[in-house]
This record gives sequence, C-alpha cells and structure tokens, in this order.
Amino acid sequence: MVFDTNISASLRCRKCGRFVIEDMSFFEMKNESGRQVKCECGEVVATVKSRDFKTFHVYIPCLICDKEHSFVFTWKSVPWEKVKILSCPSSFCDVAFIGGRDLIRSLTAKREKDMQELIEVLSNI
Ligand SMILES: [Zn+2]
Ligand SMILES: [Zn+2]
Repeated sequence: MVFDTNISASLRCRKCGRFVIEDMSFFEMKNESGRQVKCECGEVVATVKSRDFKTFHVYIPCLICDKEHSFVFTWKSVPWEKVKILSCPSSFCDVAFIGGRDLIRSLTAKREKDMQELIEVLSNI
C-alpha cells in the first residue's frame, strides 16, 4: 500500500473571494504551529495541524458566520479517491473541500463555474 502523505484543500477566501487550492504534506502539519493555508491576498484561510500520527485538525475561519470551525479527521478516513466536504454548522454551507489532489482541482473548477453562473444570474435580476 502506498501511503499518500499529501492532501489538497480548497477554500474560498473570506477577504477577497478567491478560491485557494493548496497541497500540504503530513510533515508540514507536524510543525508546532501547523500548516497555514494562505490566500494570495495574505489572509489565512485555514490551519491544519497534526499532533499524532493518527489524526489531524483543520481550523477554518468561516466566511459565512465569522466563527472558527474545527474539524477532526483521521488519516484512515481521508478519502484519497473522494472529496470530503466541510460545512459550516450554523448555515450548512460548504466552506471547504479536502481530499486527493486531482479531485480537488476538478471539483473546484466546477464550483467556480457554478459560482460564476450564479453571479451572472443574480446580476440579471
Ligand atoms: Zn484573499
Ligand atoms: Zn460558519
């Protein structure tokens, strides 16, 4: 079995609205301060930490309700061939996706397109 130590995360920046896609490795998460995912504008969109070899925590400053949400995953539960959707517990909106590298990229591209269409629809009302 090949143990994949890389996951990708996709989130939207709450400051500038850009989609941020970042690959991170298990080893980066082991740092004392964790692995920060930053947008091009400098905003930290997520922090990922792993304190042991079994689990990792994802902290996301929510762009919808303005609170910080934390999610805990085990490495075993990470679906390399699927995507996990992280949603805001108070609004049930999707705030982030994590999973395998290629999947995250194709999903984000699709989301971005949907979002674009939505914006166009809304601006025509
Ligand atoms: Zn930004
Ligand atoms: Zn929220």
